[in-house]
Amino acid sequence: MEKKVEKVISNLEERVKFFSQLGIDFLFSSSPSTTSSTTAAKSSSLLSLKEEILNCQKCPLYRERKNAVPGEGNSEAELMFVGEAPGRDEDVQGNPFVGKAGQLLTKIINAMNFQRKDVFITNVVKCRPPNNRTPYRKEMELCQPYLLEQIDMIKPRVIVALGKVATDFFINSDLSMSRLRGSFFEYKNILLMPTFHPSYLIRNEANREIKKMVWEDMKKVMAFLDKK
Ligand code: URA
Repeated sequence: MEKKVEKVISNLEERVKFFSQLGIDFLFSSSPSTTSSTTAAKSSSLLSLKEEILNCQKCPLYRERKNAVPGEGNSEAELMFVGEAPGRDEDVQGNPFVGKAGQLLTKIINAMNFQRKDVFITNVVKCRPPNNRTPYRKEMELCQPYLLEQIDMIKPRVIVALGKVATDFFINSDLSMSRLRGSFFEYKNILLMPTFHPSYLIRNEANREIKKMVWEDMKKVMAFLDKK
């Protein structure tokens, strides 16, 4: 019996060591995925929120949009990807990350042994800024409650913030993406992994180092989610 207990303790120690190597030191607080709401109730709340976003007129971006892009995916997702704002293709189709950057994101998701339908994909701002400019602070502030509600409903275990705009939404830091990526942060008891935006990877296609860094970040996410 004593031997068994020793083994359990030793396994636990190994696990704690492993997670602390990943930069996670708050593992033993209550699990964010514990929820009393049922999947059906969650899906229905997400649907109502989607309707609200589709009809939103809180900031001037609604005047020029073809479609608002609320986000899509699994209401039970353990993993959420958050980008900046919809681009041209997303505006036309009403779905997030469906253009060139989206195709690359899909490849990354698949390489992590997930399908798009397993995860939830959304943006900080739900309507396309003209000419794909960076969203204004005011636009982000007005759109913020939507993303907060999505996170609150889905309660993912990990959020991957794609690029600086998304990272800034969660972390108030002057540091560059190169400094911020690579280790987990904590956001409301959820692990946050900042990494480079797929568009940045596309713009720097020849740079293998950037690809390698993104893959290192995603491997940490996979390890935490026990994804092989
Ligand atoms: N870039 C983003 O940040 N989001 C999208 O949905 C598409 C491109």
